[in-house]
Amino acid sequence: MSKSDDENLRPATRLVQGGRRPEWTGDPRLGGSVVNPPVWRASTILYDNMADLAARGHATHDKLYYGRRGTPTVWALADALTDMEPGAAGTLLYPSGVAANSAGLLALLAPGDRLLMVDSAYEPTRAFCNGLLARYGVVITYYDPLIGAGIADLITPQTKLIFLESPGSLTFEVQDIPAITQVARDRGVLTMLDNTWATPLLFPALAHGVDVAMMSLTKYVGGHSDAMMGSLTATKAVWPRLRGAAYQLGQAVSPDDCAFVLRGLRTLDVRMARHGENGLTVAKWLAARADVGRVLHPALPGDRGHAIWSRDFAGTSGLFGFTLKGADAAARARFIDALTLFGIGFSWGGYESLVVPSDPIRTATPWSDPDPLVRLSIGLEDPADLIADLTRGFAAI
Ligand SMILES: *Cc1c(COP(=O)(O)O)cnc(C)c1O
Repeated sequence: MSKSDDENLRPATRLVQGGRRPEWTGDPRLGGSVVNPPVWRASTILYDNMADLAARGHATHDKLYYGRRGTPTVWALADALTDMEPGAAGTLLYPSGVAANSAGLLALLAPGDRLLMVDSAYEPTRAFCNGLLARYGVVITYYDPLIGAGIADLITPQTKLIFLESPGSLTFEVQDIPAITQVARDRGVLTMLDNTWATPLLFPALAHGVDVAMMSLTKYVGGHSDAMMGSLTATKAVWPRLRGAAYQLGQAVSPDDCAFVLRGLRTLDVRMARHGENGLTVAKWLAARADVGRVLHPALPGDRGHAIWSRDFAGTSGLFGFTLKGADAAARARFIDALTLFGIGFSWGGYESLVVPSDPIRTATPWSDPDPLVRLSIGLEDPADLIADLTRGFAAI
């Protein structure tokens, strides 16, 4: 048991206390303990004798068994993430966010099942659905992210899972998750949410009725652009299914990466607050410009997702989009090339600001804005410097 098993602790405290079990950070024979679990690198686990080997034949997930099943460094991160998500029974770690999404979909779906997939999903999630998942006989229907309780009309007896992502990748629609999870529960359908943008700090997913919460830990949780990992955190009913599939698929993560991600997790609260604040400062500045079409940021009062965001989220992260009014792709390229503080690169959620051009792929609900779209991940720099940099970009158009 770690101290964060106390359900009364608030999220910022849980972030600090989570996963710090004494059996992972100290040894009575050393006369003390360390703050962070050491990096336990292992393939082989040695057993004391034959009786010990026989007794551990059915190892649980938090006893040493074989390297692929994890070591205390891995369990400490998984445990800390579980502690962040009220209502969760456990967390599984995957080598990337994409691996976590794919493993979750594979674990919960079988040939002939139907999946309802949000149309604003992260593009590699679509690629997995249209590729391997379709090849294995799962029927995928893309739905409008703003469908809300109307999702009921799309459910058939074969529908087994509704996949959500909110705000949506690139276009930042906010889904009415409580309405959708209510319908799903009534109809016996599971729900899985890509919660990378908000993390449980801003949106505790299971408390809003979601069965499986996914995160790309590569983004805000890692927070330093130097590690890749993904997670699935789930209810007691679903977690054993995910664990069984992860074992069969051989999903394992490196303890070195876990130590990096765990270090990032400890400061998530302060970083997220600053990312959110800086992002909103930049978003408001953009929204006031005549050469900006739309700013896609749910924390802005005029945004189409603002009401639901205000109702459900505890704050904002620093990732959002905007359109360049009347510009074309070449002008967008000049804008991006003129920036000096923003790195041009995929991924996001690190301490440094990033920019990418974004071109949404839609099949259920066309993205019809003619103006080119840009995505910004606002880092921890002083926003005045970022605004000066963006001013250079607009000048270059
Ligand atoms: C980046 C991202 C992923 C995938 O994570 P990786 O760790 O890069 O594999 C999944 N979902 C969303 C919303 C993302 O932005």
